[in-house]
Amino acid sequence: MPLSEFDLIRRYFQDATPLSDDVCCGIGDDAAIVRVPAGNDLVLAMDTLVAGVHFPTDTLPADIGYKSLAVNLSDLAAMGADPCWITLSLTLPEADENWLQSFMDGFGQLAREYRLGLVGGDTTRGPLSITIQVHGLVPEGQALKREGARPGDRVYISGHPGDAALALDIINGNVSDVNDQQMAYLLARFNRPTPRLELGRSLRGIASSAVDISDGLDADLGHILEAGAVGADMQLAQLPLSAALQALPADRAWQLALSGGDDYELCFTVPEANVAEIDALSLPDCPLFFIGTISEETGQRWWGPDGNKFKLSDTGYCHF
Ligand code: ADP
Ligand code: MG
Repeated sequence: MPLSEFDLIRRYFQDATPLSDDVCCGIGDDAAIVRVPAGNDLVLAMDTLVAGVHFPTDTLPADIGYKSLAVNLSDLAAMGADPCWITLSLTLPEADENWLQSFMDGFGQLAREYRLGLVGGDTTRGPLSITIQVHGLVPEGQALKREGARPGDRVYISGHPGDAALALDIINGNVSDVNDQQMAYLLARFNRPTPRLELGRSLRGIASSAVDISDGLDADLGHILEAGAVGADMQLAQLPLSAALQALPADRAWQLALSGGDDYELCFTVPEANVAEIDALSLPDCPLFFIGTISEETGQRWWGPDGNKFKLSDTGYCHF
């Protein structure tokens, strides 16, 4: 007999994560109650993942669980917030226990890594879709925003842009000449992105603006430029391409790195006066790269190693 909605909640969500003392009321009442410590701002982010749009329909449920939470945490990272609590709204075509078990394994792995409590949610029947809201804290007034970049600030990026887009090309059968080791690396980048939370919190008081890269570097840096009413001169030669991208023709690699979504790295700006603090950061497995400079002249210009302007043939992902 299929499980009822309430059996599902008890079995898969109620004890999915340990709850800390700041959760006054978790799963089981009409709403959750959490205690926000004095002197902090509460930072909220929500993202929905729809099967076939945000992940291929044959993605492993554990990877879907991991990624749904990771992309939400990435938004908190971009704000410089420390995540605390999660709510999860699941729409499932059926009460498939194997699917739920696997989904919660992936979700729980990341939630436990950051000691996040699942405090509530909703469970409904329909085409597969996952909505997560993460709740985080940041000392009052210290959150990073898209707005704030000023002419002369340096533009940085973490990690290697374009990997997730190349992985998607491979999944879709458009690329075949990738060795096994690179394939494993790229698929991990696509299915299990690392939310750059430690970086985000380290950038408080140092970065003048920040954004996470979900729709492509070109599109997301564009948000920083628009919010600050500034422009940028960017250097393709300084783009940190992974070995897998370096093996491609340069134009194709740059195209992927600039317009490919789903990397969940951070792009941020730093006033010259704070550059020494960036150089002093040492974050394990989170390399930072100086890729361009904010200008007063608006617009985003990508300069090639030959000094010519690069023309992007494809812009970032847009739903509508
Ligand atoms: P209500 O009908 O009052 O909205 P529900 O029956 O939807 O309550 O939910 C009962 C409890 O289970 C609530 O505390 C809710 O937050 C929790 N819950 C439901 N679905 C989920 C889920 N997918 N993940 C976490 N908690 C959930
Ligand atoms: Mg109710």
